[in-house]
Amino acid sequence: MATANYDVIIIGGGINGAATAAAVAARGYRTLVLEQDDFASGTTSASTKLIHGGLRYLETGDARLVHESLQSRERLLRERPHLVRPMEFILPVYDGDPRPPWYIRTGLALYDLLSPRKVSPWHSSFSERELQRFEPSISTDHLRAAYLYHDAQVWSPERLTLEYLAQARASGADLRNHAAVDYIIVDGGRARGVDFHDVLTGRRSTASGRLIVNAAGPWVDAVLDATGREMRRRIGGTRGSHLVVNLEGRGPRHAVLASARSDGRPMFVTPWLGHHIIGTTDVRDDEEPSDVRAAGWEIDYLIAEAARVLPGLGIEHRNVLYAYSGVRPLARAGEGVFEGAISRRSILVDHASERVERLVSIVGGKLTTAEELGRKVAAAISQQIGRPRARGIAALPETPTSRAVFLPPETQEHLRMVYGPRVPEVAAYAANDSSLAQAISPLHRDIGAQVAYAVEHEGARTVADVLLRRTAVGLTGDMGRGAAAPTADIMAKRLGWSEDLRDQSVRDYFAELHRRFVIIDSEIGIPAAERMPDEDLAEGGAR
Ligand SMILES: Cc1cc2nc3c(=O)[nH]c(=O)nc-3n(C[C@H](O)[C@H](O)[C@H](O)COP(=O)(O)OP(=O)(O)OC[C@H]3O[C@@H](n4cnc5c(N)ncnc54)[C@H](O)[C@@H]3O)c2cc1C
Repeated sequence: MATANYDVIIIGGGINGAATAAAVAARGYRTLVLEQDDFASGTTSASTKLIHGGLRYLETGDARLVHESLQSRERLLRERPHLVRPMEFILPVYDGDPRPPWYIRTGLALYDLLSPRKVSPWHSSFSERELQRFEPSISTDHLRAAYLYHDAQVWSPERLTLEYLAQARASGADLRNHAAVDYIIVDGGRARGVDFHDVLTGRRSTASGRLIVNAAGPWVDAVLDATGREMRRRIGGTRGSHLVVNLEGRGPRHAVLASARSDGRPMFVTPWLGHHIIGTTDVRDDEEPSDVRAAGWEIDYLIAEAARVLPGLGIEHRNVLYAYSGVRPLARAGEGVFEGAISRRSILVDHASERVERLVSIVGGKLTTAEELGRKVAAAISQQIGRPRARGIAALPETPTSRAVFLPPETQEHLRMVYGPRVPEVAAYAANDSSLAQAISPLHRDIGAQVAYAVEHEGARTVADVLLRRTAVGLTGDMGRGAAAPTADIMAKRLGWSEDLRDQSVRDYFAELHRRFVIIDSEIGIPAAERMPDEDLAEGGAR
Protein backbone atom coordinates (compact mmCIF):
# COMPACT_ATOMS: atom_id res chain seq x y z
CA MET A 1 0.00 0.00 0.00
CA ALA A 2 1.46 3.38 -1.04
CA THR A 3 1.93 6.04 1.68
CA ALA A 4 2.54 9.75 1.11
CA ASN A 5 3.14 12.61 3.53
CA TYR A 6 1.32 15.92 3.55
CA ASP A 7 0.87 18.88 5.88
CA VAL A 8 -2.86 19.17 5.27
CA ILE A 9 -5.33 16.60 3.98
CA ILE A 10 -8.69 17.96 2.84
CA ILE A 11 -11.56 15.48 2.64
CA GLY A 12 -14.12 16.73 0.10
CA GLY A 13 -13.63 18.48 -3.23
CA GLY A 14 -16.76 20.64 -3.19
CA ILE A 15 -16.47 24.42 -3.34
CA ASN A 16 -15.44 24.71 0.32
CA GLY A 17 -12.76 22.01 0.10
CA ALA A 18 -11.49 23.53 -3.15
CA ALA A 19 -11.34 27.11 -1.84
CA THR A 20 -9.65 25.87 1.34
CA ALA A 21 -7.11 23.95 -0.75
CA ALA A 22 -6.32 27.11 -2.75
CA ALA A 23 -5.75 29.14 0.42
CA VAL A 24 -3.81 26.43 2.27
CA ALA A 25 -1.55 25.53 -0.67
CA ALA A 26 -0.88 29.22 -1.34
CA ARG A 27 0.62 29.43 2.17
CA GLY A 28 3.07 26.73 1.19
CA TYR A 29 1.53 23.73 2.96
CA ARG A 30 1.89 20.39 1.22
CA THR A 31 -1.79 19.75 0.51
CA LEU A 32 -3.84 16.72 -0.57
CA VAL A 33 -7.51 16.92 -1.62
CA LEU A 34 -9.50 13.67 -1.66
CA GLU A 35 -12.93 13.63 -3.30
CA GLN A 36 -14.98 10.41 -3.27
CA ASP A 37 -16.91 11.24 -6.44
CA ASP A 38 -15.99 14.07 -8.80
CA PHE A 39 -14.98 17.58 -7.77
CA ALA A 40 -18.09 19.74 -7.21
CA SER A 41 -20.45 16.81 -7.67
CA GLY A 42 -22.04 17.13 -4.19
CA THR A 43 -24.12 20.03 -2.87
CA THR A 44 -22.03 22.41 -4.94
CA SER A 45 -23.73 21.12 -8.09
CA ALA A 46 -27.23 21.35 -6.60
CA SER A 47 -27.64 25.02 -5.69
CA THR A 48 -29.71 27.90 -7.06
CA LYS A 49 -26.39 29.24 -8.50
CA LEU A 50 -26.81 32.69 -6.97
CA ILE A 51 -23.92 34.81 -5.84
CA HIS A 52 -25.82 36.90 -3.39
CA GLY A 53 -26.05 38.43 0.02
CA GLY A 54 -29.21 36.45 0.64
CA LEU A 55 -32.00 38.97 1.04
CA ARG A 56 -34.02 36.53 3.13
CA TYR A 57 -31.21 36.05 5.67
CA LEU A 58 -32.04 39.58 6.87
CA GLU A 59 -35.20 38.02 8.27
CA THR A 60 -33.18 35.65 10.45
CA GLY A 61 -31.12 38.58 11.76
CA ASP A 62 -27.95 37.50 9.92
CA ALA A 63 -27.02 41.07 8.82
CA ARG A 64 -23.30 40.32 9.20
CA LEU A 65 -23.58 37.25 6.98
CA VAL A 66 -25.44 39.35 4.40
CA HIS A 67 -22.81 42.11 4.55
CA GLU A 68 -19.91 39.66 4.15
CA SER A 69 -21.70 37.83 1.34
CA LEU A 70 -22.35 41.09 -0.51
CA GLN A 71 -18.67 41.96 -0.30
CA SER A 72 -17.82 38.52 -1.71
CA ARG A 73 -20.36 39.05 -4.49
CA GLU A 74 -18.69 42.30 -5.52
CA ARG A 75 -15.27 40.69 -5.50
CA LEU A 76 -16.42 37.72 -7.61
CA LEU A 77 -18.11 40.05 -10.11
CA ARG A 78 -14.84 41.93 -10.45
CA GLU A 79 -12.42 39.00 -10.49
CA ARG A 80 -14.33 36.24 -12.34
CA PRO A 81 -16.61 38.07 -14.79
CA HIS A 82 -16.72 35.11 -17.19
CA LEU A 83 -18.37 32.91 -14.53
CA VAL A 84 -20.20 35.39 -12.31
CA ARG A 85 -22.60 37.80 -13.94
CA PRO A 86 -24.86 40.56 -12.61
CA MET A 87 -28.50 39.58 -12.56
CA GLU A 88 -31.59 41.77 -12.27
CA PHE A 89 -34.30 40.44 -9.95
CA ILE A 90 -37.95 41.45 -10.05
CA LEU A 91 -39.78 41.09 -6.79
CA PRO A 92 -43.59 41.33 -7.17
CA VAL A 93 -45.80 41.59 -4.07
CA TYR A 94 -49.40 40.36 -4.31
CA ASP A 95 -52.51 40.52 -2.13
CA GLY A 96 -52.23 37.76 0.44
CA ASP A 97 -48.40 37.59 0.37
CA PRO A 98 -46.87 37.08 3.82
CA ARG A 99 -44.59 40.13 3.51
CA PRO A 100 -46.25 43.52 2.81
CA PRO A 101 -44.68 46.11 0.45
CA TRP A 102 -43.30 48.31 3.27
CA TYR A 103 -41.48 45.28 4.72
CA ILE A 104 -39.93 44.37 1.35
CA ARG A 105 -38.96 48.03 0.70
CA THR A 106 -37.21 48.22 4.06
CA GLY A 107 -35.40 44.94 3.41
CA LEU A 108 -34.21 46.11 -0.02
CA ALA A 109 -32.99 49.44 1.39
CA LEU A 110 -31.04 47.61 4.07
CA TYR A 111 -29.67 45.21 1.43
CA ASP A 112 -28.36 48.21 -0.55
CA LEU A 113 -26.94 49.86 2.57
CA LEU A 114 -25.06 46.70 3.50
CA SER A 115 -23.11 46.94 0.24
CA PRO A 116 -22.19 50.63 0.09
CA ARG A 117 -19.41 50.37 -2.49
CA LYS A 118 -21.21 48.11 -4.94
CA VAL A 119 -21.03 48.68 -8.68
CA SER A 120 -24.64 47.64 -9.39
CA PRO A 121 -27.49 50.19 -9.08
CA TRP A 122 -29.68 50.51 -5.98
CA HIS A 123 -33.14 48.97 -5.91
CA SER A 124 -36.11 50.73 -7.51
CA SER A 125 -39.84 50.17 -7.83
CA PHE A 126 -42.23 49.68 -10.78
CA SER A 127 -45.73 50.91 -11.43
CA GLU A 128 -47.99 48.16 -12.80
CA ARG A 129 -47.64 49.53 -16.32
CA GLU A 130 -43.85 49.79 -16.04
CA LEU A 131 -43.70 46.19 -14.86
CA GLN A 132 -45.83 45.02 -17.81
CA ARG A 133 -43.44 46.73 -20.20
CA PHE A 134 -40.26 45.56 -18.44
CA GLU A 135 -41.24 41.92 -17.94
CA PRO A 136 -44.59 41.10 -19.59
CA SER A 137 -44.60 37.47 -18.43
CA ILE A 138 -45.16 38.40 -14.74
CA SER A 139 -48.72 38.39 -13.45
CA THR A 140 -50.11 41.79 -12.43
CA ASP A 141 -53.31 40.24 -11.03
CA HIS A 142 -53.79 41.43 -7.43
CA LEU A 143 -50.37 43.11 -7.64
CA ARG A 144 -49.66 45.47 -4.71
CA ALA A 145 -46.11 46.52 -5.59
CA ALA A 146 -43.10 45.42 -7.61
CA TYR A 147 -39.39 46.08 -7.13
CA LEU A 148 -36.16 45.69 -9.05
CA TYR A 149 -32.94 44.77 -7.26
CA HIS A 150 -29.52 43.47 -8.28
CA ASP A 151 -27.58 40.34 -7.41
CA ALA A 152 -25.48 37.88 -9.42
CA GLN A 153 -25.43 34.36 -10.84
CA VAL A 154 -22.56 31.91 -11.23
CA TRP A 155 -23.56 29.97 -14.31
CA SER A 156 -21.33 27.07 -13.27
CA PRO A 157 -20.52 26.57 -9.58
CA GLU A 158 -18.67 23.46 -10.79
CA ARG A 159 -16.28 25.56 -12.86
CA LEU A 160 -15.81 28.05 -10.03
CA THR A 161 -14.74 25.07 -7.90
CA LEU A 162 -12.36 23.92 -10.67
CA GLU A 163 -10.82 27.40 -10.73
CA TYR A 164 -10.07 27.22 -7.00
CA LEU A 165 -8.60 23.76 -7.56
CA ALA A 166 -6.47 25.05 -10.45
CA GLN A 167 -5.08 27.69 -8.06
CA ALA A 168 -4.36 24.98 -5.48
CA ARG A 169 -2.64 22.83 -8.10
CA ALA A 170 -0.53 25.77 -9.28
CA SER A 171 0.68 26.04 -5.66
CA GLY A 172 1.64 22.37 -5.67
CA ALA A 173 -1.49 20.70 -4.21
CA ASP A 174 -2.18 17.06 -5.04
CA LEU A 175 -5.80 16.66 -6.18
CA ARG A 176 -7.53 13.27 -6.38
CA ASN A 177 -11.12 12.78 -7.47
CA HIS A 178 -12.95 9.43 -7.27
CA ALA A 179 -10.87 8.84 -4.13
CA ALA A 180 -12.97 7.98 -1.08
CA VAL A 181 -11.66 8.26 2.48
CA ASP A 182 -12.51 5.07 4.38
CA TYR A 183 -10.72 5.63 7.64
CA ILE A 184 -9.19 8.51 9.59
CA ILE A 185 -6.16 7.32 11.50
CA VAL A 186 -6.26 8.64 15.09
CA ASP A 187 -3.32 7.84 17.32
CA GLY A 188 -2.55 9.28 20.75
CA GLY A 189 -5.62 11.56 20.56
CA ARG A 190 -4.44 13.13 17.32
CA ALA A 191 -5.55 12.65 13.68
CA ARG A 192 -2.50 11.42 11.77
CA GLY A 193 -3.69 10.46 8.31
CA VAL A 194 -6.26 8.65 6.19
CA ASP A 195 -6.82 5.38 4.38
CA PHE A 196 -8.55 5.92 1.05
CA HIS A 197 -9.31 4.03 -2.13
CA ASP A 198 -9.69 4.93 -5.77
CA VAL A 199 -13.32 4.22 -6.58
CA LEU A 200 -12.64 3.57 -10.28
CA THR A 201 -9.61 1.28 -9.92
CA GLY A 202 -10.08 -0.07 -6.39
CA ARG A 203 -6.48 0.84 -5.51
CA ARG A 204 -5.98 1.43 -1.77
CA SER A 205 -3.59 4.03 -0.33
CA THR A 206 -2.64 5.71 2.91
CA ALA A 207 -1.64 9.33 3.37
CA SER A 208 -0.31 10.92 6.51
CA GLY A 209 -1.00 14.55 7.38
CA ARG A 210 -0.27 17.01 10.17
CA LEU A 211 -3.87 18.26 10.07
CA ILE A 212 -7.06 16.96 8.47
CA VAL A 213 -9.88 19.18 7.23
CA ASN A 214 -13.28 17.55 6.95
CA ALA A 215 -14.91 19.55 4.12
CA ALA A 216 -17.42 16.85 3.29
CA GLY A 217 -20.52 19.10 3.25
CA PRO A 218 -23.59 17.02 4.10
CA TRP A 219 -21.31 14.00 4.61
CA VAL A 220 -19.44 15.68 7.51
CA ASP A 221 -20.93 13.29 10.10
CA ALA A 222 -20.21 10.21 7.94
CA VAL A 223 -16.58 11.32 7.69
CA LEU A 224 -16.44 11.79 11.47
CA ASP A 225 -17.69 8.20 11.78
CA ALA A 226 -14.56 7.19 9.83
CA THR A 227 -12.53 8.00 12.97
CA GLY A 228 -14.15 4.93 14.54
CA ARG A 229 -15.11 7.05 17.59
CA GLU A 230 -18.32 8.43 18.99
CA MET A 231 -18.39 12.01 17.73
CA ARG A 232 -21.08 14.65 18.17
CA ARG A 233 -23.50 15.00 15.19
CA ARG A 234 -22.93 18.31 13.43
CA ILE A 235 -25.18 18.36 10.37
CA GLY A 236 -28.93 18.86 10.26
CA GLY A 237 -29.30 18.98 6.51
CA THR A 238 -32.31 20.19 4.59
CA ARG A 239 -33.09 19.09 1.05
CA GLY A 240 -33.62 21.68 -1.64
CA SER A 241 -34.96 20.79 -5.08
CA HIS A 242 -34.99 22.71 -8.34
CA LEU A 243 -36.47 22.22 -11.79
CA VAL A 244 -34.72 23.02 -15.06
CA VAL A 245 -37.33 24.05 -17.61
CA ASN A 246 -37.18 24.79 -21.30
CA LEU A 247 -39.64 27.57 -22.13
CA GLU A 248 -38.44 27.75 -25.75
CA GLY A 249 -37.45 31.40 -25.61
CA ARG A 250 -40.69 32.57 -23.99
CA GLY A 251 -39.52 32.68 -20.36
CA PRO A 252 -38.82 35.81 -18.34
CA ARG A 253 -35.64 37.67 -19.35
CA HIS A 254 -35.05 38.68 -15.74
CA ALA A 255 -34.92 36.67 -12.56
CA VAL A 256 -38.07 36.64 -10.47
CA LEU A 257 -38.30 36.28 -6.71
CA ALA A 258 -41.81 35.77 -5.35
CA SER A 259 -43.40 34.39 -2.21
CA ALA A 260 -44.89 30.94 -2.70
CA ARG A 261 -48.65 31.09 -2.15
CA SER A 262 -48.88 27.76 -0.34
CA ASP A 263 -46.17 28.28 2.32
CA GLY A 264 -44.77 31.80 1.92
CA ARG A 265 -41.27 30.49 1.06
CA PRO A 266 -39.17 32.54 -1.36
CA MET A 267 -39.35 31.07 -4.86
CA PHE A 268 -36.87 31.94 -7.61
CA VAL A 269 -37.23 31.66 -11.37
CA THR A 270 -33.87 32.48 -12.95
CA PRO A 271 -32.78 32.50 -16.59
CA TRP A 272 -29.86 30.10 -17.10
CA LEU A 273 -28.07 29.01 -20.29
CA GLY A 274 -31.20 29.40 -22.44
CA HIS A 275 -33.31 27.55 -19.87
CA HIS A 276 -34.86 28.59 -16.54
CA ILE A 277 -34.28 27.27 -13.04
CA ILE A 278 -37.22 27.14 -10.63
CA GLY A 279 -36.45 26.63 -6.96
CA THR A 280 -36.43 25.81 -4.23
CA THR A 281 -37.83 23.68 -1.44
CA ASP A 282 -36.51 23.29 2.11
CA VAL A 283 -37.27 19.90 3.68
CA ARG A 284 -35.48 18.21 6.58
CA ASP A 285 -33.57 15.26 5.17
CA ASP A 286 -31.49 12.66 6.98
CA GLU A 287 -31.07 10.35 3.95
CA GLU A 288 -27.64 9.47 2.56
CA PRO A 289 -26.90 12.68 0.58
CA SER A 290 -25.92 10.75 -2.57
CA ASP A 291 -29.46 9.34 -2.81
CA VAL A 292 -31.31 12.61 -2.49
CA ARG A 293 -33.96 13.17 -5.17
CA ALA A 294 -36.94 15.47 -5.60
CA ALA A 295 -40.23 14.05 -4.35
CA GLY A 296 -43.26 14.22 -6.65
CA TRP A 297 -44.92 16.83 -4.44
CA GLU A 298 -41.85 19.12 -4.68
CA ILE A 299 -42.02 19.00 -8.48
CA ASP A 300 -45.77 19.76 -8.44
CA TYR A 301 -45.27 22.57 -5.90
CA LEU A 302 -42.54 24.30 -7.92
CA ILE A 303 -44.53 24.06 -11.17
CA ALA A 304 -47.72 25.39 -9.54
CA GLU A 305 -45.98 28.31 -7.81
CA ALA A 306 -44.04 29.34 -10.94
CA ALA A 307 -47.18 29.06 -13.10
CA ARG A 308 -49.05 31.35 -10.69
CA VAL A 309 -46.50 34.18 -11.00
CA LEU A 310 -45.86 33.60 -14.73
CA PRO A 311 -49.36 32.63 -15.89
CA GLY A 312 -49.05 33.35 -19.62
CA LEU A 313 -46.26 30.83 -20.19
CA GLY A 314 -48.27 27.68 -19.55
CA ILE A 315 -45.58 26.19 -17.32
CA GLU A 316 -46.41 22.49 -16.95
CA HIS A 317 -44.70 19.17 -16.46
CA ARG A 318 -44.03 18.95 -20.21
CA ASN A 319 -41.69 21.99 -20.03
CA VAL A 320 -39.55 20.41 -17.33
CA LEU A 321 -36.33 18.71 -18.41
CA TYR A 322 -35.36 17.39 -15.01
CA ALA A 323 -35.35 18.02 -11.27
CA TYR A 324 -32.17 18.16 -9.21
CA SER A 325 -31.78 18.13 -5.45
CA GLY A 326 -29.10 18.68 -2.86
CA VAL A 327 -28.73 18.71 0.90
CA ARG A 328 -27.78 21.99 2.55
CA PRO A 329 -24.98 21.13 4.96
CA LEU A 330 -26.41 23.23 7.76
CA ALA A 331 -25.46 23.19 11.41
CA ARG A 332 -27.74 20.89 13.36
CA ALA A 333 -30.57 22.93 14.91
CA GLY A 334 -32.90 21.95 17.71
CA GLU A 335 -36.17 20.17 16.97
CA GLY A 336 -39.01 22.53 16.19
CA VAL A 337 -36.83 25.14 14.47
CA PHE A 338 -38.35 26.21 11.15
CA GLU A 339 -36.10 25.00 8.27
CA GLY A 340 -35.77 28.47 6.71
CA ALA A 341 -34.63 29.87 10.07
CA ILE A 342 -31.57 27.62 10.40
CA SER A 343 -28.49 29.82 10.00
CA ARG A 344 -26.59 29.65 6.69
CA ARG A 345 -23.43 30.85 8.45
CA SER A 346 -20.42 28.53 8.34
CA ILE A 347 -18.77 27.14 11.45
CA LEU A 348 -15.29 25.69 11.79
CA VAL A 349 -15.39 22.90 14.37
CA ASP A 350 -12.16 21.90 16.12
CA HIS A 351 -12.55 18.31 17.34
CA ALA A 352 -9.84 18.73 19.98
CA SER A 353 -12.79 19.26 22.35
CA GLU A 354 -13.81 15.66 21.54
CA ARG A 355 -10.29 14.42 22.14
CA VAL A 356 -9.29 14.26 18.48
CA GLU A 357 -6.71 16.95 17.87
CA ARG A 358 -5.71 18.20 14.43
CA LEU A 359 -9.10 17.37 12.91
CA VAL A 360 -11.38 20.25 11.94
CA SER A 361 -14.75 20.20 10.18
CA ILE A 362 -16.36 22.86 8.03
CA VAL A 363 -20.09 23.03 8.70
CA GLY A 364 -22.30 25.14 6.43
CA GLY A 365 -21.17 27.91 4.11
CA LYS A 366 -22.30 29.21 0.75
CA LEU A 367 -20.92 29.24 -2.77
CA THR A 368 -20.72 33.00 -2.45
CA THR A 369 -18.39 33.03 0.55
CA ALA A 370 -16.24 29.92 -0.06
CA GLU A 371 -13.09 31.91 -0.82
CA GLU A 372 -13.29 33.90 2.44
CA LEU A 373 -14.05 30.70 4.32
CA GLY A 374 -10.99 29.04 2.76
CA ARG A 375 -8.78 31.90 3.93
CA LYS A 376 -10.19 31.67 7.47
CA VAL A 377 -9.56 27.92 7.57
CA ALA A 378 -5.99 28.44 6.31
CA ALA A 379 -5.38 31.02 9.07
CA ALA A 380 -6.75 28.61 11.70
CA ILE A 381 -4.48 25.86 10.36
CA SER A 382 -1.41 28.11 10.63
CA GLN A 383 -2.26 28.68 14.28
CA GLN A 384 -2.43 24.94 14.91
CA ILE A 385 0.53 23.61 12.98
CA GLY A 386 2.71 26.66 12.52
CA ARG A 387 4.51 27.61 9.38
CA PRO A 388 4.89 25.09 6.55
CA ARG A 389 8.07 23.09 6.30
CA ALA A 390 10.28 24.80 3.72
CA ARG A 391 10.03 23.09 0.35
CA GLY A 392 10.25 23.93 -3.29
CA ILE A 393 7.10 23.65 -5.36
CA ALA A 394 7.60 21.34 -8.34
CA ALA A 395 7.08 23.41 -11.46
CA LEU A 396 3.98 22.47 -13.44
CA PRO A 397 4.62 21.31 -16.99
CA GLU A 398 4.48 24.10 -19.56
CA THR A 399 1.04 24.24 -21.13
CA PRO A 400 0.97 25.02 -24.85
CA THR A 401 -1.20 27.98 -25.77
CA SER A 402 -2.73 29.27 -28.97
CA ARG A 403 -4.74 32.34 -29.77
CA ALA A 404 -8.29 31.21 -30.51
CA VAL A 405 -8.76 33.48 -33.53
CA PHE A 406 -8.92 30.54 -35.98
CA LEU A 407 -12.12 29.30 -34.30
CA PRO A 408 -15.58 30.62 -35.30
CA PRO A 409 -16.52 33.78 -33.32
CA GLU A 410 -19.34 32.00 -31.44
CA THR A 411 -16.93 29.26 -30.33
CA GLN A 412 -14.43 31.87 -29.17
CA GLU A 413 -17.16 33.62 -27.22
CA HIS A 414 -18.26 30.33 -25.67
CA LEU A 415 -14.70 29.44 -24.65
CA ARG A 416 -14.28 32.87 -23.05
CA MET A 417 -17.40 32.25 -20.97
CA VAL A 418 -16.13 28.85 -19.81
CA TYR A 419 -12.40 29.47 -19.34
CA GLY A 420 -11.91 33.25 -19.05
CA PRO A 421 -8.16 33.91 -19.24
CA ARG A 422 -7.36 30.22 -19.86
CA VAL A 423 -8.87 30.14 -23.39
CA PRO A 424 -5.44 29.92 -25.12
CA GLU A 425 -4.62 26.70 -23.21
CA VAL A 426 -7.83 25.07 -24.51
CA ALA A 427 -7.53 26.51 -28.02
CA ALA A 428 -4.06 24.95 -28.34
CA TYR A 429 -5.67 21.49 -28.53
CA ALA A 430 -7.83 22.58 -31.47
CA ALA A 431 -4.85 24.29 -33.13
CA ASN A 432 -2.86 21.04 -33.04
CA ASP A 433 -5.69 18.72 -34.09
CA SER A 434 -8.44 20.21 -36.25
CA SER A 435 -10.85 17.37 -35.33
CA LEU A 436 -10.88 18.85 -31.80
CA ALA A 437 -12.18 22.15 -33.18
CA GLN A 438 -15.51 20.45 -33.97
CA ALA A 439 -18.54 20.70 -31.69
CA ILE A 440 -19.22 17.55 -29.67
CA SER A 441 -22.97 17.92 -30.24
CA PRO A 442 -25.06 19.95 -32.67
CA LEU A 443 -27.05 21.32 -29.71
CA HIS A 444 -24.05 22.80 -27.89
CA ARG A 445 -21.10 25.04 -28.67
CA ASP A 446 -18.62 22.93 -26.72
CA ILE A 447 -15.81 21.48 -28.82
CA GLY A 448 -13.57 18.42 -28.63
CA ALA A 449 -10.62 20.48 -27.35
CA GLN A 450 -12.57 21.03 -24.13
CA VAL A 451 -12.80 17.28 -23.58
CA ALA A 452 -9.05 16.86 -24.12
CA TYR A 453 -8.33 19.79 -21.78
CA ALA A 454 -10.73 18.39 -19.15
CA VAL A 455 -8.86 15.07 -19.18
CA GLU A 456 -5.33 16.44 -19.21
CA HIS A 457 -5.68 19.52 -16.97
CA GLU A 458 -8.88 19.24 -14.97
CA GLY A 459 -8.81 15.65 -13.73
CA ALA A 460 -11.84 14.40 -15.71
CA ARG A 461 -11.97 10.59 -15.61
CA THR A 462 -15.53 9.77 -16.68
CA VAL A 463 -17.88 11.05 -19.37
CA ALA A 464 -20.07 12.54 -16.63
CA ASP A 465 -17.04 14.42 -15.24
CA VAL A 466 -16.77 16.17 -18.61
CA LEU A 467 -20.43 16.66 -19.52
CA LEU A 468 -21.80 17.55 -16.08
CA ARG A 469 -18.93 19.34 -14.33
CA ARG A 470 -16.24 20.53 -16.82
CA THR A 471 -18.98 21.75 -19.20
CA ALA A 472 -22.76 22.19 -18.86
CA VAL A 473 -23.53 20.01 -21.90
CA GLY A 474 -25.26 17.35 -19.80
CA LEU A 475 -27.29 19.92 -17.88
CA THR A 476 -29.07 21.54 -20.83
CA GLY A 477 -30.68 20.66 -24.18
CA ASP A 478 -30.67 16.89 -24.67
CA MET A 479 -28.70 16.37 -21.45
CA GLY A 480 -25.66 15.29 -23.42
CA ARG A 481 -27.39 12.36 -25.11
CA GLY A 482 -25.82 13.27 -28.45
CA ALA A 483 -22.46 14.31 -26.98
CA ALA A 484 -21.82 11.23 -24.83
CA ALA A 485 -20.40 8.95 -27.54
CA PRO A 486 -18.16 11.59 -29.21
CA THR A 487 -16.90 12.62 -25.76
CA ALA A 488 -16.14 9.00 -24.90
CA ASP A 489 -14.22 8.64 -28.20
CA ILE A 490 -11.93 11.57 -27.35
CA MET A 491 -11.46 10.35 -23.78
CA ALA A 492 -10.74 6.78 -24.95
CA LYS A 493 -7.81 8.02 -27.07
CA ARG A 494 -6.29 10.02 -24.22
CA LEU A 495 -6.91 7.50 -21.44
CA GLY A 496 -6.13 4.38 -23.47
CA TRP A 497 -9.62 2.86 -23.10
CA SER A 498 -10.53 -0.28 -25.04
CA GLU A 499 -13.65 -0.25 -27.20
CA ASP A 500 -15.53 -2.11 -24.44
CA LEU A 501 -14.51 0.44 -21.85
CA ARG A 502 -15.51 3.28 -24.15
CA ASP A 503 -18.99 1.76 -24.63
CA GLN A 504 -19.29 1.12 -20.92
CA SER A 505 -18.36 4.75 -20.18
CA VAL A 506 -21.34 5.93 -22.25
CA ARG A 507 -23.67 3.52 -20.42
CA ASP A 508 -22.24 4.74 -17.10
CA TYR A 509 -22.97 8.31 -18.15
CA PHE A 510 -26.65 7.58 -18.77
CA ALA A 511 -26.84 5.65 -15.50
CA GLU A 512 -25.35 8.65 -13.66
CA LEU A 513 -27.97 10.97 -15.20
CA HIS A 514 -30.71 8.69 -13.86
CA ARG A 515 -29.02 8.51 -10.47
CA ARG A 516 -28.58 12.27 -10.06
CA PHE A 517 -31.76 13.63 -11.61
CA VAL A 518 -35.46 12.96 -11.89
CA ILE A 519 -35.63 13.17 -15.69
CA ILE A 520 -39.08 14.41 -16.58
CA ASP A 521 -38.89 15.17 -20.31
CA SER A 522 -39.15 11.65 -21.71
CA GLU A 523 -38.65 12.96 -25.26
CA ILE A 524 -34.94 13.51 -24.62
CA GLY A 525 -34.78 9.72 -24.59
CA ILE A 526 -31.95 9.11 -22.14
CA PRO A 527 -31.69 5.31 -22.27
CA ALA A 528 -32.75 3.60 -19.04
CA ALA A 529 -29.81 2.57 -16.88
CA GLU A 530 -30.32 -1.18 -17.36
CA ARG A 531 -31.19 -1.11 -21.08
CA MET A 532 -28.78 0.40 -23.58
CA PRO A 533 -29.34 -1.01 -27.06
CA ASP A 534 -26.63 -0.22 -29.61
CA GLU A 535 -29.22 1.47 -31.85
CA ASP A 536 -29.92 4.00 -29.10
CA LEU A 537 -26.24 4.80 -28.87
CA ALA A 538 -25.83 5.19 -32.61
CA GLU A 539 -28.90 7.36 -32.83
CA GLY A 540 -27.72 9.46 -29.89
CA GLY A 541 -24.29 9.92 -31.44
CA ALA A 542 -25.74 11.07 -34.73
CA ARG A 543 -28.15 13.66 -33.40
C1 LIG B 1 -30.90 23.76 -2.62
C2 LIG B 1 -29.68 24.56 -2.38
C3 LIG B 1 -29.57 25.84 -2.91
C4 LIG B 1 -28.42 26.60 -2.66
N1 LIG B 1 -28.29 27.81 -3.27
C5 LIG B 1 -27.18 28.55 -3.06
C6 LIG B 1 -27.01 29.77 -3.75
O1 LIG B 1 -27.83 30.15 -4.60
N2 LIG B 1 -25.91 30.51 -3.47
C7 LIG B 1 -24.97 30.10 -2.57
O2 LIG B 1 -24.01 30.85 -2.34
N3 LIG B 1 -25.08 28.92 -1.92
C8 LIG B 1 -26.16 28.13 -2.16
N4 LIG B 1 -26.29 26.91 -1.55
C9 LIG B 1 -25.26 26.49 -0.60
C10 LIG B 1 -24.06 25.87 -1.28
O3 LIG B 1 -24.42 25.17 -2.44
C11 LIG B 1 -23.37 24.90 -0.33
O4 LIG B 1 -23.25 25.45 0.93
C12 LIG B 1 -21.99 24.53 -0.83
O5 LIG B 1 -22.07 24.02 -2.14
C13 LIG B 1 -21.37 23.50 0.10
O6 LIG B 1 -20.16 23.10 -0.45
P1 LIG B 1 -19.28 22.03 0.29
O7 LIG B 1 -17.99 21.98 -0.43
O8 LIG B 1 -19.24 22.30 1.73
O9 LIG B 1 -20.11 20.67 0.14
P2 LIG B 1 -20.22 19.69 -1.11
O10 LIG B 1 -20.32 20.40 -2.39
O11 LIG B 1 -21.30 18.72 -0.81
O12 LIG B 1 -18.80 18.96 -1.09
C14 LIG B 1 -18.48 17.97 -0.15
C15 LIG B 1 -17.76 16.87 -0.89
O13 LIG B 1 -17.24 15.92 0.03
C16 LIG B 1 -17.18 14.68 -0.65
N5 LIG B 1 -17.04 13.60 0.32
C17 LIG B 1 -17.96 13.17 1.22
N6 LIG B 1 -17.48 12.11 1.91
C18 LIG B 1 -16.24 11.85 1.44
C19 LIG B 1 -15.26 10.87 1.73
N7 LIG B 1 -15.46 9.91 2.65
N8 LIG B 1 -14.10 10.90 1.04
C20 LIG B 1 -13.85 11.84 0.10
N9 LIG B 1 -14.78 12.80 -0.23
C21 LIG B 1 -15.94 12.80 0.44
C22 LIG B 1 -18.52 14.65 -1.38
O14 LIG B 1 -18.52 13.73 -2.45
C23 LIG B 1 -18.68 16.09 -1.83
O15 LIG B 1 -18.29 16.32 -3.17
C24 LIG B 1 -27.39 26.10 -1.83
C25 LIG B 1 -27.49 24.80 -1.32
C26 LIG B 1 -28.61 24.02 -1.63
C27 LIG B 1 -28.69 22.62 -1.15
